[in-house]
Amino acid sequence: EGTGRFIVGGNWKCNGTIASVAELCEGLNAGEIADNVDIVVAPPFLYIDQAVEALDAKRFKVAAQNAWVEYTLQDPTHHYDSDTGAFTGEVSAEMLEDLDVPWVILGHSERRTLLGEDNVTVGKKVAHARYHGLNVIVCVGESLEEREAGKTLEVIFAQLRAVAEEIDDREHSSWGSQVVIAYEPIWAIGTGKVATPEQAQEVHAAIRQWLVDNVSEEVSKATRIQYGGSVNDGNCEDLAKYSDIDGFLVGGASLDAEKFVRICNSSV
Ligand code: PEP
Repeated sequence: EGTGRFIVGGNWKCNGTIASVAELCEGLNAGEIADNVDIVVAPPFLYIDQAVEALDAKRFKVAAQNAWVEYTLQDPTHHYDSDTGAFTGEVSAEMLEDLDVPWVILGHSERRTLLGEDNVTVGKKVAHARYHGLNVIVCVGESLEEREAGKTLEVIFAQLRAVAEEIDDREHSSWGSQVVIAYEPIWAIGTGKVATPEQAQEVHAAIRQWLVDNVSEEVSKATRIQYGGSVNDGNCEDLAKYSDIDGFLVGGASLDAEKFVRICNSSV
């Protein structure tokens, strides 16, 4: 069982216009949300500034949906002196730090599967973001095929190990309340097929135990583990009752202010 505050993330993905972001922020500000929940919303890069300006800063923190890291696979000793430079189209953790963007989502399954981010890349990104003082939501999760083959935990532990190997011994980088793990079974993302609360709790408990065995008891207690995958205002309360479900990462329903506010209040 974790000891941290409930934390709900809204992943807006590649959605939005100036008008719709304004409307969504207005709707979020109007929502009555309990004090005991941390809320992080992740607009596309181009709308982060607009969201920061529009949102009630006391209630809502913002996140980027990705951050670039440079590394050389051939030279594992190469560490991130700088991640700015000749990387056309990328946005770096240094830039997020410069703009005071406090959070970043890393390793989302859409980036892993559609854009080929592997475990090593995600581990390096997490370590580098921590190095720049960013809070991280790192996503892990199995495909339907992997679940049916009985490989769920094997897959998730490999994803976690890649993170642990990078952040373990690095200066300024650490586990704890600033690293949130989002368990997002790929078969449940955007499909309307939510994991049962028992399925989610089982994986969350296994992740927590993995942290005890591979990092520390203290970190295991301090780390918030979110569930993500077709969370909505109808299923959130049942999921939130489980002791190892410390919050949610919400895609589709985070674009609807009223639904998202209800999800934020689901642990109350
Ligand atoms: C997500 O992309 O993080 C997610 C959980 O999406 P959805 O809620 O739409 O399934």
